[in-house]
Amino acid sequence: MWPERITVCGGGNAAHVLIAMLENSAVSVYVPFADEAERLRAGCRRAGGVTARAGETVWRGEPQTISDDPAKVFPDANLVLLALPASAHGVTLAAATPYLRSGAWVVALPARGGFDWEAAALLPEGVVLAGLQTLPWACRIVPGKYGEAVEILGTKKVVDLASRPATVSTELAATLSQLFHISLQPVSSFLALTLANTGQIIHPGIMHGMFHNWDGKLPGEDQAPLFYAGVTPEIAAQLQAMSDEIQAVRTALIAARPDLDLTAVLPLDAWLRRSYGSDIADSASLRTCFTTNRAYASLRAPMKLNHDGKTLVPSFEARYLTEDVPFGLLVTRGIAELCNVSTPAIDRVIEWAQTALSREWLEHDRLRGRDLANSRIPQRFGIRELSELVS
Ligand code: NAD
Repeated sequence: MWPERITVCGGGNAAHVLIAMLENSAVSVYVPFADEAERLRAGCRRAGGVTARAGETVWRGEPQTISDDPAKVFPDANLVLLALPASAHGVTLAAATPYLRSGAWVVALPARGGFDWEAAALLPEGVVLAGLQTLPWACRIVPGKYGEAVEILGTKKVVDLASRPATVSTELAATLSQLFHISLQPVSSFLALTLANTGQIIHPGIMHGMFHNWDGKLPGEDQAPLFYAGVTPEIAAQLQAMSDEIQAVRTALIAARPDLDLTAVLPLDAWLRRSYGSDIADSASLRTCFTTNRAYASLRAPMKLNHDGKTLVPSFEARYLTEDVPFGLLVTRGIAELCNVSTPAIDRVIEWAQTALSREWLEHDRLRGRDLANSRIPQRFGIRELSELVS
């Protein structure tokens, strides 16, 4: 199928890139917040659409409709793109559900963990689901140019895509690669995609490494530290241990179902080399894959202004914890529990994150906390046995 009518959900950085790149398609945009929808409309009107720039390459696209009303943007859509944080997937799919027809494609960029379980529970029969393992672009709306311009700072060499049913993943990857001007690689299943989500390791792992000793005092800097370039040998060791535990989960799953294809679940260093290629100047170690990676060079840790209005303190509410733990690391932890694989390094990060965020997920090494209701662990969707997970 070539998508005739596309609905982009979201009005942030990723949505701006999509609006611009889909310049030759009929595009509607769903932004559920009326003020954000109005700002997006106003920006597009001023500039005649959204421009995305990646070096010398420029795209410009103008949506036909931008609305906070699902009835104006979802009917007749045969491709729905979720350019949203994972916490917004559920409410957005619930808004779209009454209008989506069998055969429509719903694609999450990125999917994060457990997207298929949540979406399948909400969407009508026959809707095809797909998810990308990561957002293909590092992108930021140009300051002061909301609704007008976005800068693409980096593009991943190749990004994995899973679909449900899995039989259409090759067709979906080919079509979406063309639409997004990137290389999408079909992988065997959403389970593989969920475990292969490296954001669940990288973001909470580095946050833990940088801030677990933070004692509430000022960091003594008026600028946030470099995030990826700030990976120390100790942080790299923690990331390696988390990656090793996910590999142990992969091994346990294959032992239970030898025909499962989990080749997409790469060790972290292998994933970095594959995704960033020559952007990494020195790929000799996991640490140098971060510290010499051009695509990561300028990105800083999420910090916010302290009460004094002058100095900076860590922002634990940033997505690196609020998205990547409940929609990433916890999902994998839930899978590990079904496989009886112990995950001390992952648990260390989850325990620190739940304290930092005042959430309850892990209790005495078990997934029992009350805040699991806002996560995508498999147990929430009735998957309580390994056999149910791999069936
Ligand atoms: P953004 O913050 O710029 O935009 C997010 C959009 O989601 C906004 O339009 C916001 O209104 C909407 N939203 C938030 N909560 C919502 C809710 N409850 N219901 C409906 N809509 C809601 O984010 P982004 O940079 O476009 O990122 C989108 C996704 O891509 C996120 O998962 C992010 O972690 C991931 N990502 C982004 C980048 C990047 O460089 N921008 C890189 C890697 C991954």
